[in-house]
Formats: sequence, structure tokens, C-alpha cells
Amino acid sequence: MQKHVVIIGSGVGGLATAVRLAASGFKVTVLEANDYVGGKLTTKQIGRYRFDMGPSVFTLPNLIDDLTNISKQDKPFKYLTLDTIVNYFFEDGTSLIAYTDKEKFANEVATKLGETKESVLEQLKFSGKLYELTSDIFMTQSLHKLSNFLNLKTAKAILNIGKLKLGKTMNEVNKARFKNPKTVQIFNRFATYNGSSPFQAPALINIIAHLEHNIGAFVPATGMHDITRHIYELSLALGAQYKFNSRVTKIKVENDIAVGVITENVEIAADYVVSNSDIKHVYTKLLDKKYYRSKLLDQEKSLSALIFYWGIKKEFKELSLHNMLFSANGEEEFKCMFQDKKPYHDPSIYINIGSKHSKNDVPEGCENWFVMVNVPSNTSSMPVEYVDEMRKNMVEKINRILKTDIEKYIEIEDVLDPYLIEQRTSSAGGSLYGNASNNKYAAFLRHANNSSQIKNLYFTGGSVHPGGGIPLGLYSAQIVAEMIADKNK
Ligand SMILES: Cc1cc2nc3c(=O)[nH]c(=O)nc-3n(C[C@H](O)[C@H](O)[C@H](O)COP(=O)(O)OP(=O)(O)OC[C@H]3O[C@@H](n4cnc5c(N)ncnc54)[C@H](O)[C@@H]3O)c2cc1C
Repeated sequence: MQKHVVIIGSGVGGLATAVRLAASGFKVTVLEANDYVGGKLTTKQIGRYRFDMGPSVFTLPNLIDDLTNISKQDKPFKYLTLDTIVNYFFEDGTSLIAYTDKEKFANEVATKLGETKESVLEQLKFSGKLYELTSDIFMTQSLHKLSNFLNLKTAKAILNIGKLKLGKTMNEVNKARFKNPKTVQIFNRFATYNGSSPFQAPALINIIAHLEHNIGAFVPATGMHDITRHIYELSLALGAQYKFNSRVTKIKVENDIAVGVITENVEIAADYVVSNSDIKHVYTKLLDKKYYRSKLLDQEKSLSALIFYWGIKKEFKELSLHNMLFSANGEEEFKCMFQDKKPYHDPSIYINIGSKHSKNDVPEGCENWFVMVNVPSNTSSMPVEYVDEMRKNMVEKINRILKTDIEKYIEIEDVLDPYLIEQRTSSAGGSLYGNASNNKYAAFLRHANNSSQIKNLYFTGGSVHPGGGIPLGLYSAQIVAEMIADKNK
């Protein structure tokens, strides 16, 4: 008889799990609290402007191609490879372009920041080595199954453990390689791709640079919302059913076995329950408190964000799809967010302009700016004075660095803060990537993709193994689908 899987949440992890399990012959029902699909990866039309509300950096598109192939549908996912990864700007007027072409990027860093070309290429090689040695261990399989460690790949990684520089932080390794603090700041920045501090995160987190610089940076044909829309459509074609405005209030457990879920209106029986909700939300809201595991759930959370969505009545030729205006003091910035738990007054500002590629999202001659700074995760609403002060500081910094008067061009505005992120997605404190990776044991302190206490209960998405971000969310779906298929054999 066809087994029934209920998935709680339609974020990237939930959607990809739906595709994989529906393609393997399971009956799949997805219950989503919102009236839209995608969780953090969603879209909003504000007046004449369309915005991607969450992720903007897109790597490893092959993981989406895998889902298309599994679903056996003739519906390719369309995306472009970027020639330029990011435009970097510093307070003293220095600016440079991170080209996708490695030689060109290394030359740019050598010319603008006085590094040797070789040191840049060596850093990228180091990131590639980290990926080669550890990706199969930490990303594509369960970390919580002993047999996964008894293989050649793991043995090779253990033999090469020195190369992983496990005892050092990202910043220590990057500082030893480069002489210009600006270059260090550029490579340290990848810690924020999983919401961590380069001054605490292990050197292994340098692995992230490999994705954009060695494999490539991409943009979906009509914006990031293509990703969730595509996976959603694949799952629908495979027969997955969705119920929106359906908040799960309890996972029904009998004799330590998950047997279904309870929503505000109905009870639905299931052979397997997969939660795509933030893991802390699951244990605090959906399960009996006797199951709570503080060692995993009370770890420090990754950073959240304060984002302004601006419809801009002007085109800025000096900007590209991804732009970074660095803080004048990177070390203070992270100390303030992680030690003092406060937003920093001079934050690094990330500006994403989707309309550089998707012109139809804006009126002629205009741009859709997604202007983001990292702030600590926080469960309560950000005080209005904080938001106003941060906005003022951000506007002044943008004006200083881009030599403009940005207020003049802001036609419409919307705001997202940690509180709203938590309200809309259930992420603890609005953290973007679940637990932070601020220590070398972090990978082992993420929750597994299944429950060791409750049979037939599984977890996918950015708050569990292998981690936050679209690619890792997609890997978590792959791991969960394999676990359930194995169990069901
Ligand atoms: C502002 C921002 C910028 C980001 N930038 C990037 C980036 O550039 N690149 C990148 O790769 N990643 C980025 N991320 C992270 C990325 O968005 C997530 O890691 C990724 O989308 C994975 O999401 P998920 O599967 O964990 O599900 P989520 O997106 O967290 O969705 C969970 C879903 O479950 C639903 N849900 C929760 N509880 C219940 C319940 N009880 N009942 C029913 N439904 C429920 C929620 O409503 C939600 O729809 C960013 C995130 C944010 C917010």
C-alpha cells in the first residue's frame, strides 16, 4: 500500500523532499502555515517593483537539475552563469570586482590591493581542497550514521587533517595568507554565508569561497523566486498535494512513534512526518517538552538580517547584481553582533539588484535594491529607534561610498527584521541559517535529519544537518528522502 508522508512547511527543504518522495512513489501532503510557497525564498510585488525577499546568492544549480531529472519532467531549470561575482567597495574609496574568471580576479586583487596573484590563486586552491576532502562527509550524507564514516573518503580526510587547519579560525588563516586587511575582509566575508563570525568560525568555513569562485555563481533566469516555483511545480506534477494556511500545532506521537500531525482544524494521519520547520520551533511548539534536547537546541544562533527593499528611480552603472560596501572595522562589527548582541553602527552593507538581470521586475530606468545588513538574531521586535538609526547610518554610508543622495531616488520601501523573519518562517530569533558555525564542533551540534527518540520523524531545511542556505537545504532533503526510502524497503 502507498505510504503517506506529511511534510510540515514548504521552504526549499520541504519542497525538495516532496519531489524526491513523490518521485519514489509516496503519497505526499505538504502543510504550509503561510498562504504562499517557499518560506524564506519568496517574492513580493510592491507597487511597480518586484523583489526577491530572501536569498540572492545562488550556487550549485546542479542540485536543482537533479530534482528535474528525478521527476522525469521535460522542464529544464533556466539560469545564467555570472561573469562578475561581487563588486566590493571600501570606505577609503578603493573598489574592485570579483570576476568569475580566477586569473582575472587574482589580477584585480593584485592590482588594487597589492597582493601577489599567486596568494589569491593559492587561497582558492585551499578552498577547493577543503571541499574535496570534506564535502562528502559533511554535506551529502548523514553525520549521525557510523557506517558513513567507515569509507575511503573519510580515511583520506583523516589522513589530510593537517590541511583542514582545524585548530585555526578563518580569520587567522586568511590573515596569514594576505598582507592587506581588505583582502582578509573579502575572504572573511564568506563566514556570513552561514551567519557566523570569521573571528570564531573554524578555517574549514573557507570552503564556502570554493562554491562561487571555483564552481561558479549563477542567477535564475527571472530571479530567485524561480527556484521555489520550479521545485513546487515539479512536485505538483508528481502528485504532491499542498494545503496552505495550514499551521501544524502538534506532531502526533504514540508510543514514541510519529503517527500524524494536528493543525488548527484537522488531524492528518501519516506513516512518516518530515518537518521543514526550524528545529527549535519543532521541539518547543510541536512536541512534548520531554523530548527537548538543550545540548543541540540551545546552541548560539546564526546571524539574522535587517533588510530594506527600495524601489530606486535611477540606474547605478557602478553596481552589479551583488555589491558589498564593507564596514571600516570588520573585527568590531562581528564582536558587536556576537559578543555584545547588538547591531553595529557601521555595518557591512550588501546590496542586491535583481533588475540588473530581470529588467521586467522594475519600471524603465529604475532598479530594485535589496539592502541588507546582518544583525544578531532576536526573538522580540526590533525597536523602531534602532531601525531608524540603522537606516540613517546605512543611507549615510551608501551616500559616502557611492557619492550619491540615495533618499532622492527611493520611490517605495519595505522592511524585514529578525522578528518578521521569525513570524513568517518560524526561524528561532529570525536566524538565517539555524545554529551559528562559531566553533569547530558546530557541524556535530546540528540536529540530525531524523529523531533518535521518535520513530518515523524526520527533519529537513536550514536549521538541521548539513546546514543553512539553499544548497545545504537541498542536500538535507536528499538525505531525508534516502533515509525514508531505506526504512521503507
Ligand atoms: C534575508 C535572507 C537572506 C538569505 N540569503 C541567502 C542566500 O543568499 N543564499 C542562500 O543559499 N541562502 C540564503 N538564505 C537562507 C535560505 O533562505 C534558507 O537556508 C533556505 O531557503 C532553506 O530554507 P528551509 O528549507 O530551512 O525553509 P524555510 O525557508 O525556513 O521555510 C520553512 C517553512 O515552513 C513553514 N512552517 C514552519 N512551521 C510551520 C508549522 N508549524 N506549520 C506549517 N508550516 C510551518 C514556514 O511557514 C515556512 O514556509 C537567506 C535567508 C534570508 C531570510
